[in-house]
Amino acid sequence: MEKLRDINKMVEMVHDANRIFISTHKSPDGDAIGSSLALKQGLEKLGKTVTVVVPDAFPAFLNWMVNKGDLLQFDQQSEEVKLALQEAELVFSLDYNNLSRVGKDLEQLLRTDETPKLIIDHHREPEDAAFVAGLHDIEASSTAQLVYDFIQAFGEAGLIDKRTAACIYAGIVTDTGSFRFRSTTAKTHRVVADLMDLGLVTGEVYNEIFDTNSLDRIKLLGYVLDKKLTVFPELELAHISLSEKELNQFNYKSGDTEGVVNYPLSIKGVNVSCIMKENGGIIRLSFRSKGDIDVNLFARKYFNGGGHLNAAGGMSELSLEETVTKFEAAAKEYFGA
Ligand code: 5GP
Ligand code: MN
Repeated sequence: MEKLRDINKMVEMVHDANRIFISTHKSPDGDAIGSSLALKQGLEKLGKTVTVVVPDAFPAFLNWMVNKGDLLQFDQQSEEVKLALQEAELVFSLDYNNLSRVGKDLEQLLRTDETPKLIIDHHREPEDAAFVAGLHDIEASSTAQLVYDFIQAFGEAGLIDKRTAACIYAGIVTDTGSFRFRSTTAKTHRVVADLMDLGLVTGEVYNEIFDTNSLDRIKLLGYVLDKKLTVFPELELAHISLSEKELNQFNYKSGDTEGVVNYPLSIKGVNVSCIMKENGGIIRLSFRSKGDIDVNLFARKYFNGGGHLNAAGGMSELSLEETVTKFEAAAKEYFGA
């Protein structure tokens, strides 16, 4: 879809707008927050008034990135978000491919609002009817990497300062599993090299993200690996399921299970991993795979979800036990073949 690769049109539209609204997906991760704040900071240097909106809470390991007043959280500040949207002349959708990814109420607000929408994203199958133009590339390591390209497209020096460089790096390092996933290319490393020239100190940011765990979070990981990991050697698959009650025993906070789904993949012979997590009566599923095994299609087919070839998510309205049973049957059918 050509219009979703039309960076020149996007630059033009930004030049013509003063108030800009940036949205990202529910349960925002490092790439969602990093790309949104980087874009905000770049656009502010161009003289724009920018509001970043997240649907709900972001993980504590991103606290260092977010200053007071940097963003609005829709589930707590819906009136402010509505006002910002009314005033906006341009809406950006960052790190999500479909308006449904922002959650029901915000989705409805965005769908009924007629402000032109631009997408910057790397997930498969973008909802192209929703956007007038975009920078969409499923091969990009992260949305943050695309935001770097987008800001550079304005051709002005000084739009990316040390703080913006840190936000972009945070998006890249989290979405690439610290530069190990297949989406990591020479270009990814070149972007990071450029960011270092702009003042980024990679070790500082890395420590902020990965070495600021709570004791509860590490103990939850220990519990999961010891008690909750189920391996199916013949399917080359493993899963983890966690009830709300179990999570509460470890004072669960948003983001505490981020990355846990990757651990089973480090077991020799395991090529697919799934974590199922109960939250407010629904079950969120995360899938990861190695090589050509397509968890995006699996998530679409069985769990009303999607994502990337090797990393996808979905949901289930069954109980946790029923979801585990459904997952096991679906996995047998899909991966057993
Ligand atoms: P995670 O497991 O980290 O939540 O998500 C893995 C990837 O799949 C992320 O890039 C995420 O944006 C995407 N993803 C997660 N859940 C869904 C979903 O329900 N629908 C779609 N389309 N993508 C999802
Ligand atoms: Mn991403």
